[in-house]
Amino acid sequence: MDLLRFGAARHLQLFTTTYRSMHLLKNKAFVDGKWQHAANNAVFPVTNPADDTVIGEVPDMSEKDAKFAIDVASKAFKSWRDSTARERANILRKWNNLCLENVDHLAEVLTAESGKPLAEAKGEVIYGTSFLEYFADTARHVTGEIIPSPWPNKQILVTRHPIGVISIITPWNFPFAMITRKVGALLAAGCTCVIKPSEDTPLTALAAVELAKQAGVPDGVVNVVTTSRNNAASVGKLLCEDPAVGCISFTGSTNVGRILYGMAAKGIKRVSLELGGNAPFIVFPSADLENALDQAMLAKFRNNGQACVGANRFLIHESVFDKFIEGFKGRIGKKCILGPGTKAGVTCGPLVNKMQVDKVSGLVDDAVSKGAKVVVGGKVAKELGDKFYQSTLLVDVKPSMEIYHEEVFGPVAVCYKFKDEAEALEVANSTRGGLASYVFTKDLGQVFRMSQKLEFGMVGINDGIVSVAEAPFGGIKESGIGREGSKHGVEEYTDIKYTLMSALDK
Ligand code: ADP
Repeated sequence: MDLLRFGAARHLQLFTTTYRSMHLLKNKAFVDGKWQHAANNAVFPVTNPADDTVIGEVPDMSEKDAKFAIDVASKAFKSWRDSTARERANILRKWNNLCLENVDHLAEVLTAESGKPLAEAKGEVIYGTSFLEYFADTARHVTGEIIPSPWPNKQILVTRHPIGVISIITPWNFPFAMITRKVGALLAAGCTCVIKPSEDTPLTALAAVELAKQAGVPDGVVNVVTTSRNNAASVGKLLCEDPAVGCISFTGSTNVGRILYGMAAKGIKRVSLELGGNAPFIVFPSADLENALDQAMLAKFRNNGQACVGANRFLIHESVFDKFIEGFKGRIGKKCILGPGTKAGVTCGPLVNKMQVDKVSGLVDDAVSKGAKVVVGGKVAKELGDKFYQSTLLVDVKPSMEIYHEEVFGPVAVCYKFKDEAEALEVANSTRGGLASYVFTKDLGQVFRMSQKLEFGMVGINDGIVSVAEAPFGGIKESGIGREGSKHGVEEYTDIKYTLMSALDK
Protein backbone atom coordinates (compact mmCIF):
# COMPACT_ATOMS: atom_id res chain seq x y z
CA MET A 1 0.00 0.00 0.00
CA ASP A 2 2.75 2.38 1.00
CA LEU A 3 4.63 1.43 -2.11
CA LEU A 4 1.56 2.15 -4.20
CA ARG A 5 1.14 5.53 -2.58
CA PHE A 6 4.82 6.23 -3.08
CA GLY A 7 4.49 5.26 -6.76
CA ALA A 8 1.47 7.51 -7.28
CA ALA A 9 3.16 10.43 -5.55
CA ARG A 10 6.31 9.97 -7.63
CA HIS A 11 4.27 9.92 -10.82
CA LEU A 12 2.36 13.01 -9.81
CA GLN A 13 5.56 14.81 -8.97
CA LEU A 14 7.13 13.83 -12.29
CA PHE A 15 3.96 14.86 -14.08
CA THR A 16 4.00 18.26 -12.41
CA THR A 17 7.63 18.93 -13.12
CA THR A 18 8.06 17.20 -16.47
CA TYR A 19 4.84 17.41 -18.41
CA ARG A 20 2.86 20.37 -17.05
CA SER A 21 4.54 22.82 -19.36
CA MET A 22 3.50 20.92 -22.48
CA HIS A 23 1.43 23.34 -24.46
CA LEU A 24 -0.82 20.97 -26.35
CA LEU A 25 -1.34 18.34 -23.65
CA LYS A 26 -5.05 17.48 -23.36
CA ASN A 27 -6.85 15.23 -20.90
CA LYS A 28 -10.25 14.93 -22.57
CA ALA A 29 -11.59 13.46 -25.78
CA PHE A 30 -12.81 15.75 -28.56
CA VAL A 31 -16.38 15.39 -29.79
CA ASP A 32 -18.62 17.98 -31.43
CA GLY A 33 -15.94 20.63 -31.07
CA LYS A 34 -15.82 20.21 -27.28
CA TRP A 35 -13.46 18.53 -24.83
CA GLN A 36 -15.47 15.67 -23.35
CA HIS A 37 -15.33 13.12 -20.52
CA ALA A 38 -16.46 9.54 -21.04
CA ALA A 39 -20.17 9.18 -20.24
CA ASN A 40 -19.19 7.00 -17.26
CA ASN A 41 -16.24 9.24 -16.35
CA ALA A 42 -13.76 6.37 -16.80
CA VAL A 43 -10.15 7.29 -17.59
CA PHE A 44 -6.91 5.48 -18.37
CA PRO A 45 -3.29 6.56 -17.95
CA VAL A 46 -0.92 7.30 -20.81
CA THR A 47 2.67 6.49 -19.92
CA ASN A 48 6.09 7.45 -21.21
CA PRO A 49 7.79 4.25 -22.43
CA ALA A 50 11.23 5.66 -21.60
CA ASP A 51 10.63 5.75 -17.85
CA ASP A 52 7.04 4.54 -17.23
CA THR A 53 5.97 7.89 -15.78
CA VAL A 54 2.33 8.84 -16.26
CA ILE A 55 2.06 11.71 -18.74
CA GLY A 56 -1.64 12.17 -18.16
CA GLU A 57 -5.03 10.49 -18.16
CA VAL A 58 -7.60 10.49 -20.95
CA PRO A 59 -11.22 9.28 -21.10
CA ASP A 60 -11.71 5.54 -21.47
CA MET A 61 -14.69 5.83 -23.76
CA SER A 62 -17.11 3.05 -24.55
CA GLU A 63 -19.65 2.27 -27.27
CA LYS A 64 -22.09 4.85 -25.91
CA ASP A 65 -19.55 7.65 -26.39
CA ALA A 66 -18.52 6.32 -29.81
CA LYS A 67 -22.17 6.18 -30.90
CA PHE A 68 -22.62 9.79 -29.83
CA ALA A 69 -19.52 10.78 -31.84
CA ILE A 70 -20.78 8.97 -34.95
CA ASP A 71 -24.15 10.76 -34.66
CA VAL A 72 -22.38 14.09 -34.29
CA ALA A 73 -20.16 13.38 -37.33
CA SER A 74 -23.22 12.29 -39.28
CA LYS A 75 -25.03 15.54 -38.50
CA ALA A 76 -21.94 17.61 -39.31
CA PHE A 77 -21.63 15.84 -42.68
CA LYS A 78 -24.92 17.37 -43.83
CA SER A 79 -23.38 20.83 -43.94
CA TRP A 80 -19.67 19.99 -44.45
CA ARG A 81 -20.43 18.14 -47.67
CA ASP A 82 -21.95 21.33 -49.06
CA SER A 83 -18.89 23.44 -48.25
CA THR A 84 -16.93 24.43 -51.33
CA ALA A 85 -13.62 22.80 -52.17
CA ARG A 86 -12.03 26.22 -51.77
CA GLU A 87 -13.37 26.60 -48.23
CA ARG A 88 -12.09 23.15 -47.30
CA ALA A 89 -8.71 23.87 -48.88
CA ASN A 90 -8.38 27.09 -46.89
CA ILE A 91 -9.12 25.32 -43.60
CA LEU A 92 -6.62 22.57 -44.42
CA ARG A 93 -4.00 25.17 -45.24
CA LYS A 94 -4.62 26.94 -41.92
CA TRP A 95 -4.32 23.61 -40.08
CA ASN A 96 -1.08 22.95 -41.94
CA ASN A 97 0.31 26.36 -40.96
CA LEU A 98 -0.67 25.94 -37.30
CA CYS A 99 0.99 22.51 -37.17
CA LEU A 100 4.17 23.99 -38.63
CA GLU A 101 4.09 26.82 -36.08
CA ASN A 102 3.71 24.20 -33.36
CA VAL A 103 6.24 21.59 -34.53
CA ASP A 104 8.12 21.71 -31.22
CA HIS A 105 4.97 21.47 -29.10
CA LEU A 106 3.57 18.59 -31.11
CA ALA A 107 6.93 16.81 -31.10
CA GLU A 108 7.31 16.96 -27.33
CA VAL A 109 3.93 15.29 -26.82
CA LEU A 110 4.78 12.73 -29.50
CA THR A 111 8.16 11.88 -27.96
CA ALA A 112 6.69 11.63 -24.46
CA GLU A 113 4.10 9.00 -25.35
CA SER A 114 5.75 7.11 -28.24
CA GLY A 115 9.38 7.22 -27.07
CA LYS A 116 10.84 8.27 -30.42
CA PRO A 117 13.75 10.74 -30.30
CA LEU A 118 12.75 14.41 -30.50
CA ALA A 119 14.45 14.90 -33.87
CA GLU A 120 12.44 12.01 -35.32
CA ALA A 121 9.27 13.31 -33.70
CA LYS A 122 9.82 16.68 -35.38
CA GLY A 123 10.48 14.86 -38.64
CA GLU A 124 7.18 13.02 -38.26
CA VAL A 125 5.29 16.26 -37.60
CA ILE A 126 6.79 17.89 -40.70
CA TYR A 127 6.11 14.77 -42.77
CA GLY A 128 2.55 14.46 -41.38
CA THR A 129 1.85 18.13 -41.97
CA SER A 130 2.92 17.79 -45.61
CA PHE A 131 -0.25 15.75 -46.16
CA LEU A 132 -2.40 18.65 -44.94
CA GLU A 133 -0.63 20.98 -47.36
CA TYR A 134 -0.87 18.49 -50.23
CA PHE A 135 -4.58 17.78 -49.64
CA ALA A 136 -5.29 21.51 -49.32
CA ASP A 137 -4.01 21.75 -52.90
CA THR A 138 -5.77 18.57 -54.02
CA ALA A 139 -9.22 19.51 -52.67
CA ARG A 140 -9.86 21.78 -55.67
CA HIS A 141 -8.87 19.12 -58.18
CA VAL A 142 -11.31 16.34 -57.33
CA THR A 143 -13.02 16.36 -60.67
CA GLY A 144 -15.51 14.28 -62.65
CA GLU A 145 -15.81 13.38 -66.31
CA ILE A 146 -18.14 13.90 -69.21
CA ILE A 147 -17.92 10.77 -71.34
CA PRO A 148 -18.86 10.89 -75.05
CA SER A 149 -22.20 9.14 -75.21
CA PRO A 150 -23.22 6.69 -77.95
CA TRP A 151 -26.52 8.61 -78.34
CA PRO A 152 -26.86 12.06 -79.91
CA ASN A 153 -29.47 13.25 -77.38
CA LYS A 154 -27.87 12.03 -74.15
CA GLN A 155 -24.95 13.00 -71.95
CA ILE A 156 -22.98 10.78 -69.58
CA LEU A 157 -21.94 12.71 -66.51
CA VAL A 158 -19.59 11.28 -63.88
CA THR A 159 -19.26 13.09 -60.56
CA ARG A 160 -17.48 12.32 -57.29
CA HIS A 161 -19.20 12.61 -53.92
CA PRO A 162 -17.92 12.35 -50.35
CA ILE A 163 -18.71 8.95 -48.79
CA GLY A 164 -19.94 10.40 -45.48
CA VAL A 165 -18.69 9.51 -41.99
CA ILE A 166 -15.31 7.77 -41.93
CA SER A 167 -14.19 5.69 -38.93
CA ILE A 168 -10.48 5.98 -38.38
CA ILE A 169 -8.42 3.62 -36.24
CA THR A 170 -4.72 4.46 -35.96
CA PRO A 171 -1.58 2.87 -34.49
CA TRP A 172 1.10 4.18 -32.11
CA ASN A 173 4.14 4.12 -34.40
CA PHE A 174 3.32 7.31 -36.35
CA PRO A 175 0.62 8.81 -34.12
CA PHE A 176 0.55 12.17 -35.92
CA ALA A 177 1.18 11.32 -39.57
CA MET A 178 -1.26 8.39 -39.68
CA ILE A 179 -3.98 10.83 -38.67
CA THR A 180 -3.11 13.72 -41.00
CA ARG A 181 -2.67 11.34 -43.96
CA LYS A 182 -6.23 10.10 -43.52
CA VAL A 183 -7.99 13.18 -42.13
CA GLY A 184 -6.39 15.58 -44.64
CA ALA A 185 -7.67 13.44 -47.51
CA LEU A 186 -11.17 12.86 -46.19
CA LEU A 187 -11.67 16.53 -45.30
CA ALA A 188 -10.58 17.50 -48.81
CA ALA A 189 -13.17 15.06 -50.17
CA GLY A 190 -15.92 16.55 -47.96
CA CYS A 191 -16.26 13.73 -45.41
CA THR A 192 -16.37 13.88 -41.61
CA CYS A 193 -14.77 11.43 -39.17
CA VAL A 194 -14.47 9.75 -35.81
CA ILE A 195 -10.88 8.89 -34.89
CA LYS A 196 -9.95 6.19 -32.40
CA PRO A 197 -6.22 6.64 -31.80
CA SER A 198 -4.04 3.93 -30.32
CA GLU A 199 -4.33 3.57 -26.54
CA ASP A 200 -0.55 4.06 -26.37
CA THR A 201 -0.57 7.44 -28.15
CA PRO A 202 -3.90 9.29 -27.80
CA LEU A 203 -2.27 12.56 -26.69
CA THR A 204 -0.75 13.38 -30.09
CA ALA A 205 -4.15 12.90 -31.73
CA LEU A 206 -5.75 15.26 -29.22
CA ALA A 207 -2.98 17.83 -29.74
CA ALA A 208 -3.49 17.62 -33.52
CA VAL A 209 -7.24 18.22 -33.30
CA GLU A 210 -6.78 21.16 -30.94
CA LEU A 211 -4.95 22.79 -33.87
CA ALA A 212 -7.67 21.64 -36.29
CA LYS A 213 -10.20 23.44 -34.12
CA GLN A 214 -8.07 26.58 -34.10
CA ALA A 215 -7.82 26.30 -37.90
CA GLY A 216 -11.60 26.50 -38.19
CA VAL A 217 -12.62 22.88 -38.75
CA PRO A 218 -16.34 23.11 -37.87
CA ASP A 219 -17.68 21.37 -34.76
CA GLY A 220 -18.44 17.69 -35.30
CA VAL A 221 -16.42 17.36 -38.51
CA VAL A 222 -13.39 15.79 -36.78
CA ASN A 223 -13.93 13.88 -33.52
CA VAL A 224 -11.54 11.87 -31.35
CA VAL A 225 -12.78 9.05 -29.12
CA THR A 226 -10.08 7.76 -26.74
CA THR A 227 -10.27 4.21 -25.38
CA SER A 228 -8.06 1.83 -23.43
CA ARG A 229 -7.08 -1.49 -25.04
CA ASN A 230 -9.96 -3.08 -23.05
CA ASN A 231 -12.54 -1.06 -24.96
CA ALA A 232 -10.76 -1.10 -28.35
CA ALA A 233 -12.61 -4.16 -29.67
CA SER A 234 -16.13 -3.07 -28.69
CA VAL A 235 -15.64 0.52 -29.84
CA GLY A 236 -13.94 -0.76 -33.01
CA LYS A 237 -16.94 -3.00 -33.72
CA LEU A 238 -19.32 -0.09 -33.44
CA LEU A 239 -17.09 2.08 -35.64
CA CYS A 240 -17.26 -0.63 -38.31
CA GLU A 241 -20.88 -1.66 -38.02
CA ASP A 242 -22.88 1.48 -37.30
CA PRO A 243 -25.05 2.13 -40.38
CA ALA A 244 -24.14 5.83 -40.37
CA VAL A 245 -20.48 4.99 -41.08
CA GLY A 246 -19.55 4.79 -44.77
CA CYS A 247 -15.93 3.64 -44.64
CA ILE A 248 -13.37 2.25 -42.21
CA SER A 249 -9.85 3.54 -42.58
CA PHE A 250 -7.36 1.57 -40.51
CA THR A 251 -3.60 1.45 -40.10
CA GLY A 252 -2.27 -1.32 -37.89
CA SER A 253 -1.58 -5.02 -37.72
CA THR A 254 -2.83 -7.46 -40.36
CA ASN A 255 -4.63 -9.45 -37.66
CA VAL A 256 -6.74 -6.53 -36.48
CA GLY A 257 -7.23 -5.41 -40.10
CA ARG A 258 -8.70 -8.81 -40.88
CA ILE A 259 -11.20 -8.49 -38.01
CA LEU A 260 -12.26 -5.00 -39.09
CA TYR A 261 -12.58 -6.06 -42.74
CA GLY A 262 -14.92 -8.86 -41.65
CA MET A 263 -17.09 -6.47 -39.66
CA ALA A 264 -17.14 -3.90 -42.47
CA ALA A 265 -18.28 -6.64 -44.84
CA LYS A 266 -21.57 -7.01 -42.96
CA GLY A 267 -22.62 -3.53 -44.03
CA ILE A 268 -20.79 -3.69 -47.40
CA LYS A 269 -18.72 -0.74 -46.17
CA ARG A 270 -15.77 0.69 -48.01
CA VAL A 271 -12.40 -0.04 -46.38
CA SER A 272 -8.95 1.46 -46.54
CA LEU A 273 -6.48 -0.86 -44.83
CA GLU A 274 -2.77 -0.15 -44.33
CA LEU A 275 -1.48 -3.31 -42.67
CA GLY A 276 1.79 -5.00 -41.85
CA GLY A 277 4.59 -5.48 -44.36
CA ASN A 278 7.60 -7.74 -44.76
CA ALA A 279 9.88 -5.52 -46.81
CA PRO A 280 12.86 -7.03 -48.60
CA PHE A 281 15.97 -4.87 -48.95
CA ILE A 282 17.89 -6.37 -51.87
CA VAL A 283 21.50 -5.47 -52.63
CA PHE A 284 22.97 -6.57 -55.98
CA PRO A 285 26.70 -6.63 -56.83
CA SER A 286 26.55 -3.47 -58.98
CA ALA A 287 25.03 -1.38 -56.15
CA ASP A 288 26.76 1.66 -54.69
CA LEU A 289 27.45 -0.02 -51.34
CA GLU A 290 27.96 3.20 -49.39
CA ASN A 291 24.55 4.46 -50.49
CA ALA A 292 22.96 1.04 -49.84
CA LEU A 293 24.38 1.09 -46.30
CA ASP A 294 23.21 4.65 -45.58
CA GLN A 295 19.74 3.76 -46.85
CA ALA A 296 19.76 0.49 -44.89
CA MET A 297 20.23 2.47 -41.68
CA LEU A 298 17.19 4.61 -42.51
CA ALA A 299 15.05 1.74 -43.76
CA LYS A 300 15.79 -0.36 -40.68
CA PHE A 301 16.45 1.88 -37.71
CA ARG A 302 14.11 4.81 -38.34
CA ASN A 303 11.60 4.73 -35.47
CA ASN A 304 13.65 1.85 -34.08
CA GLY A 305 12.35 -0.48 -36.77
CA GLN A 306 8.75 0.08 -35.70
CA ALA A 307 7.43 0.91 -39.15
CA CYS A 308 5.36 -1.17 -41.57
CA VAL A 309 7.61 -0.04 -44.44
CA GLY A 310 10.76 -0.79 -42.42
CA ALA A 311 13.23 -3.16 -44.10
CA ASN A 312 12.50 -6.57 -42.65
CA ARG A 313 14.79 -8.93 -44.55
CA PHE A 314 18.13 -7.87 -45.98
CA LEU A 315 18.91 -10.01 -49.04
CA ILE A 316 22.53 -9.43 -49.95
CA HIS A 317 24.33 -10.91 -52.95
CA GLU A 318 27.05 -13.34 -51.87
CA SER A 319 29.79 -11.36 -53.66
CA VAL A 320 29.20 -8.26 -51.49
CA PHE A 321 27.78 -9.92 -48.36
CA ASP A 322 30.85 -9.70 -46.08
CA LYS A 323 31.61 -6.13 -47.07
CA PHE A 324 27.96 -5.11 -46.50
CA ILE A 325 27.85 -6.76 -43.06
CA GLU A 326 31.12 -5.10 -42.06
CA GLY A 327 29.82 -1.67 -43.13
CA PHE A 328 26.43 -2.27 -41.45
CA LYS A 329 28.08 -3.29 -38.19
CA GLY A 330 30.25 -0.16 -38.22
CA ARG A 331 27.33 2.15 -38.90
CA ILE A 332 25.13 0.57 -36.22
CA GLY A 333 27.95 0.99 -33.70
CA LYS A 334 28.39 4.65 -34.63
CA LYS A 335 24.86 5.81 -35.33
CA CYS A 336 22.49 3.85 -33.08
CA ILE A 337 22.62 5.70 -29.77
CA LEU A 338 20.07 4.22 -27.37
CA GLY A 339 18.37 6.29 -24.68
CA PRO A 340 15.30 8.39 -23.80
CA GLY A 341 14.02 10.38 -26.77
CA THR A 342 14.48 13.70 -25.01
CA LYS A 343 18.23 13.20 -24.43
CA ALA A 344 20.50 15.04 -26.86
CA GLY A 345 22.27 12.78 -29.34
CA VAL A 346 19.92 9.81 -28.87
CA THR A 347 18.86 8.22 -32.17
CA CYS A 348 17.00 5.12 -30.90
CA GLY A 349 14.42 5.41 -28.13
CA PRO A 350 12.59 2.69 -26.23
CA LEU A 351 10.17 0.31 -27.91
CA VAL A 352 6.63 1.48 -27.32
CA ASN A 353 5.54 -1.14 -24.78
CA LYS A 354 6.47 -4.39 -23.09
CA MET A 355 4.53 -6.46 -25.65
CA GLN A 356 6.83 -5.16 -28.39
CA VAL A 357 9.96 -5.91 -26.36
CA ASP A 358 8.76 -9.46 -25.67
CA LYS A 359 7.96 -9.99 -29.35
CA VAL A 360 11.35 -8.78 -30.59
CA SER A 361 13.25 -10.73 -27.89
CA GLY A 362 11.25 -13.86 -28.66
CA LEU A 363 12.05 -13.67 -32.39
CA VAL A 364 15.78 -13.09 -31.81
CA ASP A 365 16.03 -15.85 -29.16
CA ASP A 366 14.26 -18.31 -31.47
CA ALA A 367 16.63 -17.47 -34.36
CA VAL A 368 19.75 -17.74 -32.16
CA SER A 369 18.58 -21.08 -30.74
CA LYS A 370 18.30 -22.35 -34.35
CA GLY A 371 21.80 -21.20 -35.38
CA ALA A 372 21.57 -17.51 -36.31
CA LYS A 373 24.69 -15.52 -35.42
CA VAL A 374 24.47 -12.20 -33.59
CA VAL A 375 26.93 -9.72 -35.11
CA VAL A 376 25.90 -6.89 -32.77
CA GLY A 377 23.20 -6.44 -30.11
CA GLY A 378 20.73 -9.26 -29.50
CA LYS A 379 19.50 -8.36 -26.02
CA VAL A 380 17.29 -6.07 -23.96
CA ALA A 381 19.41 -3.05 -22.90
CA LYS A 382 18.52 -3.59 -19.24
CA GLU A 383 20.77 -0.82 -17.97
CA LEU A 384 18.36 1.68 -19.61
CA GLY A 385 15.08 0.02 -18.54
CA ASP A 386 12.89 -2.85 -19.69
CA LYS A 387 11.67 -1.21 -22.95
CA PHE A 388 15.04 -0.64 -24.61
CA TYR A 389 16.29 -3.22 -27.09
CA GLN A 390 19.82 -3.16 -28.47
CA SER A 391 20.19 -2.35 -32.18
CA THR A 392 20.85 -5.80 -33.58
CA LEU A 393 22.40 -7.40 -36.65
CA LEU A 394 21.77 -11.10 -37.32
CA VAL A 395 23.37 -13.32 -39.99
CA ASP A 396 23.03 -17.02 -40.88
CA VAL A 397 19.25 -16.67 -40.88
CA LYS A 398 17.31 -19.63 -42.31
CA PRO A 399 13.72 -20.34 -43.37
CA SER A 400 13.23 -22.57 -40.31
CA MET A 401 13.41 -19.50 -38.06
CA GLU A 402 10.32 -17.45 -37.17
CA ILE A 403 12.22 -14.22 -37.83
CA TYR A 404 12.68 -15.23 -41.48
CA HIS A 405 8.91 -15.03 -42.07
CA GLU A 406 7.56 -12.61 -39.44
CA GLU A 407 7.51 -8.84 -39.50
CA VAL A 408 10.01 -7.99 -36.72
CA PHE A 409 8.78 -4.43 -36.05
CA GLY A 410 11.88 -3.69 -34.02
CA PRO A 411 15.58 -2.79 -34.30
CA VAL A 412 16.79 -6.10 -35.68
CA ALA A 413 18.42 -6.35 -39.11
CA VAL A 414 18.06 -9.88 -40.48
CA CYS A 415 20.55 -10.70 -43.24
CA TYR A 416 20.37 -13.47 -45.81
CA LYS A 417 22.90 -14.30 -48.55
CA PHE A 418 21.61 -14.98 -52.10
CA LYS A 419 23.26 -16.31 -55.27
CA ASP A 420 21.33 -14.76 -58.18
CA GLU A 421 18.42 -12.51 -59.17
CA ALA A 422 15.95 -15.38 -59.45
CA GLU A 423 16.66 -16.49 -55.88
CA ALA A 424 16.40 -12.92 -54.56
CA LEU A 425 12.99 -12.53 -56.23
CA GLU A 426 11.74 -15.85 -54.97
CA VAL A 427 12.75 -15.12 -51.37
CA ALA A 428 11.44 -11.55 -51.52
CA ASN A 429 8.04 -12.62 -52.88
CA SER A 430 7.67 -15.61 -50.54
CA THR A 431 5.46 -13.74 -48.12
CA ARG A 432 1.82 -12.74 -47.84
CA GLY A 433 2.99 -9.21 -47.02
CA GLY A 434 3.26 -6.84 -49.98
CA LEU A 435 3.86 -3.27 -48.82
CA ALA A 436 7.33 -1.77 -49.46
CA SER A 437 10.42 -3.25 -51.09
CA TYR A 438 13.89 -1.84 -51.73
CA VAL A 439 16.38 -2.67 -54.46
CA PHE A 440 19.98 -1.50 -54.85
CA THR A 441 21.57 -1.90 -58.27
CA LYS A 442 23.04 0.17 -61.10
CA ASP A 443 21.91 -2.29 -63.78
CA LEU A 444 19.05 -0.61 -65.65
CA GLY A 445 17.60 -3.85 -67.00
CA GLN A 446 17.59 -5.26 -63.48
CA VAL A 447 15.78 -2.14 -62.23
CA PHE A 448 12.96 -2.75 -64.72
CA ARG A 449 12.77 -6.47 -64.02
CA MET A 450 12.62 -5.94 -60.27
CA SER A 451 10.06 -3.14 -60.51
CA GLN A 452 7.95 -5.44 -62.67
CA LYS A 453 8.28 -8.66 -60.70
CA LEU A 454 8.37 -7.64 -57.04
CA GLU A 455 4.91 -8.34 -55.58
CA PHE A 456 4.75 -5.19 -53.47
CA GLY A 457 2.73 -1.98 -53.60
CA MET A 458 5.88 0.15 -53.47
CA VAL A 459 9.40 -0.33 -54.83
CA GLY A 460 12.28 1.95 -53.83
CA ILE A 461 15.19 1.79 -56.27
CA ASN A 462 18.45 2.86 -54.59
CA ASP A 463 16.40 4.51 -51.81
CA GLY A 464 15.32 3.36 -48.35
CA ILE A 465 12.47 5.85 -47.81
CA VAL A 466 9.59 5.90 -50.29
CA SER A 467 6.72 7.64 -48.53
CA VAL A 468 5.82 11.18 -49.56
CA ALA A 469 2.49 13.04 -49.79
CA GLU A 470 2.59 13.18 -53.60
CA ALA A 471 2.87 9.39 -54.09
CA PRO A 472 0.28 6.62 -53.54
CA PHE A 473 1.22 4.70 -50.38
CA GLY A 474 -0.24 1.24 -49.92
CA GLY A 475 0.16 -2.48 -50.20
CA ILE A 476 -1.08 -5.57 -51.97
CA LYS A 477 -1.84 -9.08 -50.68
CA GLU A 478 -2.23 -9.06 -46.89
CA SER A 479 -0.63 -5.63 -46.59
CA GLY A 480 -3.88 -3.93 -47.36
CA ILE A 481 -6.41 -2.34 -49.63
CA GLY A 482 -6.46 1.21 -50.95
CA ARG A 483 -3.94 4.01 -51.20
CA GLU A 484 -3.07 7.02 -49.06
CA GLY A 485 -1.40 10.20 -50.27
CA SER A 486 -1.56 11.46 -53.87
CA LYS A 487 -4.87 12.10 -55.68
CA HIS A 488 -5.73 8.43 -55.11
CA GLY A 489 -5.74 9.10 -51.36
CA VAL A 490 -8.59 11.62 -51.73
CA GLU A 491 -10.50 9.47 -54.21
CA GLU A 492 -10.58 6.69 -51.55
CA TYR A 493 -13.11 8.85 -49.68
CA THR A 494 -15.40 9.51 -52.61
CA ASP A 495 -18.10 7.56 -54.42
CA ILE A 496 -18.52 7.78 -58.17
CA LYS A 497 -21.95 8.72 -59.42
CA TYR A 498 -23.00 8.31 -63.05
CA THR A 499 -25.87 10.51 -64.20
CA LEU A 500 -27.43 9.85 -67.59
CA MET A 501 -28.95 13.06 -68.94
CA SER A 502 -31.44 12.10 -71.56
CA ALA A 503 -33.96 13.76 -73.87
CA LEU A 504 -31.59 16.66 -74.38
CA ASP A 505 -33.08 17.31 -77.83
CA LYS A 506 -36.54 18.01 -76.44
P1 ADP B 1 -0.23 -2.59 -32.92
O1 ADP B 1 0.37 -3.95 -32.84
O2 ADP B 1 0.49 -1.62 -33.74
O3 ADP B 1 -0.76 -2.07 -31.61
P2 ADP B 1 -2.88 -3.12 -33.62
O4 ADP B 1 -3.42 -3.51 -34.93
O5 ADP B 1 -3.01 -4.05 -32.49
O6 ADP B 1 -1.40 -2.76 -33.89
O7 ADP B 1 -3.47 -1.72 -33.16
C1 ADP B 1 -3.73 -0.67 -34.05
C2 ADP B 1 -5.01 0.00 -33.63
O8 ADP B 1 -6.06 -0.96 -33.65
C3 ADP B 1 -5.00 0.58 -32.21
O9 ADP B 1 -5.72 1.81 -32.25
C4 ADP B 1 -5.76 -0.45 -31.41
O10 ADP B 1 -6.41 0.07 -30.28
C5 ADP B 1 -6.78 -0.91 -32.42
N1 ADP B 1 -7.34 -2.24 -32.15
C6 ADP B 1 -6.74 -3.31 -31.62
N2 ADP B 1 -7.58 -4.36 -31.56
C7 ADP B 1 -8.75 -3.95 -32.08
C8 ADP B 1 -10.01 -4.57 -32.34
N3 ADP B 1 -10.25 -5.82 -32.04
N4 ADP B 1 -10.97 -3.81 -32.91
C9 ADP B 1 -10.74 -2.52 -33.24
N5 ADP B 1 -9.58 -1.89 -33.04
C10 ADP B 1 -8.60 -2.58 -32.46
